Amino acid sequence: MPRVLIIEDDAESRRLISDLFRRDDWKVLEANDGDAGVELALRDRPELILCDLLMPKSNGFQVCRTIREQLQPTKIIVVSGRDYKVDRTSALQAGADEYLLKPITWELLSSAIERLLPEIPRRSRPKPAAERESIPARIRFWGVRGSIPVPGKGTVRYGGNTSCVEVRADGEIIILDAGTGIRLLGLALDKEFGPRSMKLTLLISHTHWDHIQGLPFFSPAYNEKNVIRVLGYEGARAGLATILAGQMETPFFPVSLRELPSHLAIEELKEAEFQIGKIEVRSKFANHPGICAGYRLSTSSGSIAYFPDNEPYEPLKKQLASRAGISQEEARDFAVAEREKMVEFLQGCDYAIMDTQYTDEEYTDHIGWGHSSLSSVVSLALDANVGRLLLFHHDPNHDDEMIDKMVERARALVATSGKPLEVEAAREGAEILLCAKTAAP
Ligand SMILES: [Zn+2]
Ligand SMILES: [Zn+2]
Repeated sequence: MPRVLIIEDDAESRRLISDLFRRDDWKVLEANDGDAGVELALRDRPELILCDLLMPKSNGFQVCRTIREQLQPTKIIVVSGRDYKVDRTSALQAGADEYLLKPITWELLSSAIERLLPEIPRRSRPKPAAERESIPARIRFWGVRGSIPVPGKGTVRYGGNTSCVEVRADGEIIILDAGTGIRLLGLALDKEFGPRSMKLTLLISHTHWDHIQGLPFFSPAYNEKNVIRVLGYEGARAGLATILAGQMETPFFPVSLRELPSHLAIEELKEAEFQIGKIEVRSKFANHPGICAGYRLSTSSGSIAYFPDNEPYEPLKKQLASRAGISQEEARDFAVAEREKMVEFLQGCDYAIMDTQYTDEEYTDHIGWGHSSLSSVVSLALDANVGRLLLFHHDPNHDDEMIDKMVERARALVATSGKPLEVEAAREGAEILLCAKTAAP
């Protein structure tokens, strides 16, 4: 949904203009003075700003100048009740793209928007939405590795790029994490969309490097025709936007996040349940150092859970109990309850993409590192009656053969359970086509 910010001190004019935009399916942000407008503009980076000229605090000229200095792709329309040539010229010099006279009608606005933002789909032009609907629902893996990219002979089949999974369903393109795999996804999207604009949602599990490091190399972010929402939770030490901008600061990277020409907005999630278009999303914090979320997407073509980094509670709690002065029983009860919550969260899920970094033997030396062992993931998927388990976040030390062996071992564990769980290892480039269901799960 495109966003417009209306900066206008007159409440009645603000309401009238807001209504016009809402009717055309825009998300409307409102500010009643220049300073509040600038603050909102820089925080939310809307595609369009409508700005009055005569307002308390900063006037419209100052607002245009400040916003234009910091937000190049955002289009600014100045609205004014006065038709002085000098006002019009000053507004355009200050950075406005258009100067419209009050009273404002939808006809006036609509033709200005058509000129300034031809790529933004609107109600009156439903074609792009229809095109999006025709994209088949699918999951595609662009990066399946944990911790660090490991290109080389030993990882040719499963791939060496870090976490990035593309989900297409219900007209949405959702990208789970921005590890190094997102670079190739960006190139593929550019090829597919050509001159058409893309509307993408990036859902970030957490900001460890292997989940965000590809973002500076994501080519759709360098094209102003594209609208990209980045969603994730606040980190333990800083906000999501601060952390994502941090990795692009000098001396780490030559282009700052703010300089990216696309309409890229970073939104910190506050709720555990939210919508991306028609897709319902639920989140749950994982057992992993810092703040790390897992997600469950309920689409009309099936439900998909994504827990790229997660550690089982039981061994960890047992180990902590021996150090921290809590009894073995208390530790066990806590671990059992936490596991139960995880089973509930995954219950009946069609596809579960799960951290399976370690074999059981390796895990004994990595308790407390924030990752799962093979048998703990299989038992979780079995208890939650998952349809298909996709082993994910492969350890950088695991070559293709080792991952094959882990899949074999997992299938053997499933066989003894008698349940119909399917197991595979996520493989870079692999695609799973989702079948439409009659009702959303
Ligand atoms: Zn990771
Ligand atoms: Zn991590």
